Amino acid sequence: MRVLLVEDDALLGDGVQAGLQQAGYTVDWVRDGVAAELALKDVDFDIAVLDLGLPRQDGLTVLRKLRATGKDTPVLILTARDTVADRVAGLDAGADDYLIKPFDLDELGARLRALTRRHAGRSAPTIRYEDLELDPAGRTLTQSGEAVTLTARELAIIEALMNNVGRALSKERLEEALYGWDEGVESNAIEVHIHHLRKKLGRDRIRTVRGIGYLLPKHRESV
Ligand code: CA
Repeated sequence: MRVLLVEDDALLGDGVQAGLQQAGYTVDWVRDGVAAELALKDVDFDIAVLDLGLPRQDGLTVLRKLRATGKDTPVLILTARDTVADRVAGLDAGADDYLIKPFDLDELGARLRALTRRHAGRSAPTIRYEDLELDPAGRTLTQSGEAVTLTARELAIIEALMNNVGRALSKERLEEALYGWDEGVESNAIEVHIHHLRKKLGRDRIRTVRGIGYLLPKHRESV
């Protein structure tokens, strides 16, 4: 899961970034409204955490521009206390949720999970696919009830695939979900992770769609 964090307060941004990384997210952090607009245009983030009071361009404008492009990236806005008008304006401009500063990092994590869940059309807290069950909060995967040991990146890949069953995800899309701007990506990194996932979860579970990417098929043919 790749999150865009838009926050101009260095101390708060630092804490939120660290907290979200700990929760298993890949976090890209920008500090003003113009950088946020460009980032949202360039990358398909799974979710955005958007402060409203920002230099160069305020958060509401960023949000309105994002929605005007038709993108439905889930957005959680951060607002100051006692600004009901801001929260109303934010929700009306297309925000999906809000948190009032100061907030608890655990609550932020839980709200982001709820938002991504809703965005994917699920109401249950865990993601199921056949005999697999993934718990985004606990960062665990079980196969027929048995825990499977995965690296953080393997878990992120299977999570992206389980959130998009029947849809092929390109290597670039998976790289976006896995790596922030600061991290270099080795050209065959995704192939290597997929190889390991197949070893752990069964060879033919993840399909390769030639020239397109990888997918979990909607209905598995019996083999
Ligand atoms: Ca601010």
